[in-house]
Amino acid sequence: MVRSTEWVESTFGRFAWRDHQNKRGAIEILGEWERQNIISIAPPFELRDARARRLSIIRCHRLVASALTRLLNDLKRRGLCHLANSFDGCFVPRHMGWNPRRPLSRHAWGIAVDVNARLFPYGSRAKQDPRFIAAFARQGFAWGGEWRTPDPMHFEVVDLPQPARPLAILLDGERVIEGFLHDGRAVAPVREIAEAMGARVAARIAEGEVEIHTPGGDC
Ligand SMILES: [Zn+2]
Repeated sequence: MVRSTEWVESTFGRFAWRDHQNKRGAIEILGEWERQNIISIAPPFELRDARARRLSIIRCHRLVASALTRLLNDLKRRGLCHLANSFDGCFVPRHMGWNPRRPLSRHAWGIAVDVNARLFPYGSRAKQDPRFIAAFARQGFAWGGEWRTPDPMHFEVVDLPQPARPLAILLDGERVIEGFLHDGRAVAPVREIAEAMGARVAARIAEGEVEIHTPGGDC
């Protein structure tokens, strides 16, 4: 799956840029976008770059920082840290393939990561470990290894989980309890709402059921 540049810009922001003066394929981002959007996270286990230098921080877009942190923690929990032999960059303001004639890379937004670049070079059909690809996919990252021109070191964010938003539940103007909004639906505790409406609630957890008895409805 590949997202359009429109999706990337509407989700992660738009910035003005110019080609870098001395570094072919790199760009300079103009204005405040970088300061407002690019943040640093600390990897939860030892990560090294292609020159085996230890990385103390990863710079990425603020909206993907939690997905990236969850991904790294997930790799750690599953004992898969060894599959990340080298971490080869996340936020890198540049064109695709460092080619100034090509569009901007998703790395310019800090929403893509390159991992194991030496083992999985651009254009090769080498396949990263399926457990590794699955761990990225769980956090909304697509793998570049199946693109027309494969880029098997590359993973990029194509799906951004919406953070849950608090939602006040009111009954005839009285605030009953707080729920939250998830995937466009209101999620809230059943008991408080039902009891506020005069109903009784029987939770049968073992059966996986919650039954609401409406007033006068259980004679
Ligand atoms: Zn990449």
